[in-house]
Amino acid sequence: MNLIDYGIKLRADEYAKDSMIYCKKCHTQRIFVSEDKKFVVRCLCECQSEEKEKQLELEKQKQRLEKVKQLKEMSLLGRKYKNSTFENLDLNRPESFLKAVKRCQAYCKAWDEIKNKGYGLYLYGDVGTGKTELMACICNYLTEKFVPVIITNFLEISKKLRASYTNELETENEIIEKLSRVDLLILDDVGAEKLKKKDNTDSFMQEKIYDIINRRYINQMPTLFTSNYCIQDLLDERGFEERTVDRIAEMSNAVIKVDGDSYREIVCKRKTKEAL
Ligand SMILES: [Zn+2]
Repeated sequence: MNLIDYGIKLRADEYAKDSMIYCKKCHTQRIFVSEDKKFVVRCLCECQSEEKEKQLELEKQKQRLEKVKQLKEMSLLGRKYKNSTFENLDLNRPESFLKAVKRCQAYCKAWDEIKNKGYGLYLYGDVGTGKTELMACICNYLTEKFVPVIITNFLEISKKLRASYTNELETENEIIEKLSRVDLLILDDVGAEKLKKKDNTDSFMQEKIYDIINRRYINQMPTLFTSNYCIQDLLDERGFEERTVDRIAEMSNAVIKVDGDSYREIVCKRKTKEAL
């Protein structure tokens, strides 16, 4: 059998032996010959296959990183929290915070089940107890597992909606759709703005918030809430409609209180101590 008849030319990194072509490096075959010897084609030797595999893996890795990057941008997570992870959380904090950390970690680990069941959490407590940071940890953990997450607050949503009336980037409906459909929505600092004006009429956001929350409720989409207020206070003090509060209560499968000294205060005290 003459390999040249099959149009196969020996390359610099190959050698021929007994009508077969081998790789000089790994000494495995570079051609495939059919049993009746009528059919000869080039194939990859072992080292070429390994190299190809490696390239594919690198390409996949690149795609994964790109996807995570896109998801992180889409998540709207503030720059301050870009690197917040459960691993690098400062755990020198009150017991209730540590408990909340465990709950949040468990939440992330059980994501597949949580997603199917649409479980949510309501995390509340004093200002500066680290609630947002915890939510940022969840956001970073899940986006790295390719889960689309949006973390935002009513003020930001309200700004976006108002801007949508004057620019053509996104319509109001598109914004609401996005918030309603994202796999996990984290609404931070719920109740920061009152939803009733001084004359007791509804604020601009009253209806929009109900709309987003209700859509998620109906579709059993997991939603996390953080607030300085307990759920009841949203109704009693922050002007939320009863139907919205009812939905939030139903969607929050666990209500977690984070209390104690505000974390910012502890850090501050610590700094003072160090200074002394
Ligand atoms: Zn080889």
